[in-house]
Amino acid sequence: KRLVSGLSKTRDNIVSGMDSIFHGFTKIDEDFYEELEEVLIMGDLGVQATYDILEDLREKVKERHIKEPLECRQLLIDSIKEQMDVGETAYEFEEKTSVVMVIGVNGVGKTTTIGKLAGKLRAQGKKVVLAAADTFRAAAGEQLKEWANRAQAELIGGQEGSDPAAVVYDAVAAAKARHADVLLCDTAGRLHNKKNLMEELKKMNRIIDREFPEAFRETLVVLDATTGQNALQQAKEFNEVADITGIILTKMDGTAKGGIAVAIQAELGIPVKYIGVGETIDDLQKFDADTFVNALFT
Ligand code: GDP
Repeated sequence: KRLVSGLSKTRDNIVSGMDSIFHGFTKIDEDFYEELEEVLIMGDLGVQATYDILEDLREKVKERHIKEPLECRQLLIDSIKEQMDVGETAYEFEEKTSVVMVIGVNGVGKTTTIGKLAGKLRAQGKKVVLAAADTFRAAAGEQLKEWANRAQAELIGGQEGSDPAAVVYDAVAAAKARHADVLLCDTAGRLHNKKNLMEELKKMNRIIDREFPEAFRETLVVLDATTGQNALQQAKEFNEVADITGIILTKMDGTAKGGIAVAIQAELGIPVKYIGVGETIDDLQKFDADTFVNALFT
């Protein structure tokens, strides 16, 4: 229910436009497809995904000799789901200790998301260690400390300006000593300085490889859904410097641009693992493409 209400603006943006097309047209012609295309693009599904979805819809319409525009509604829903299919994704936070690098530019909601994630995992009875490896911003460490206290997770930090890799080293040692289930590493996502970012991530990853080879590894990118196509662009850029295993889309509650989740999965093939639909711990939700599309189209 929270998902459905959280997505209300996105639903209004995409689905009402679509439904007026399905109900307004009497036959399936080029105009019909053109209007659908416009709604999908305006709904932030992205140029590539929109093209692929509509190609797929055209094929289905042809194959099944569909004549009624209204019959296309379900076909379109199916096409969107198919384009979003990224196959089986590894199940995180199970059995082995998970070491999760979290990256994202300032302001996207990275610290809040790490805090929510820590709270969620703690509520499931998991042992969580947080690494404040964004040592470039003093405020980031402070904010993370508050979340750590709230979630009762252990925080490993460093001095402002200290080597983030050293913080990760200490955090890995702590996670091993405490037999933690999850180590969440907050990192500085300085996209404007890709070379440095890449070097820094490499250095941290090398330390984890060496000190904790048996850990399950994840690299999650946090993106602000309200920035729409910018979020897609950021995902592409981060994907050039790191092996991204998942995306977290924040602020899905306040935006009509939630269609960006479709663009990201369809275009990059990277799963959106969580979405933020508000500011409390409960507002971080596991993302599943089918549930998402169903919630949009109900
Ligand atoms: P950071 O700079 O990336 O670490 O961003 P913060 O974690 O400080 O978050 C920036 C702002 O976004 C804060 O005011 C958060 O409360 C807010 N925020 C984060 N996630 C969400 C979300 O899912 N929904 C809403 N509405 N606000 C969010």
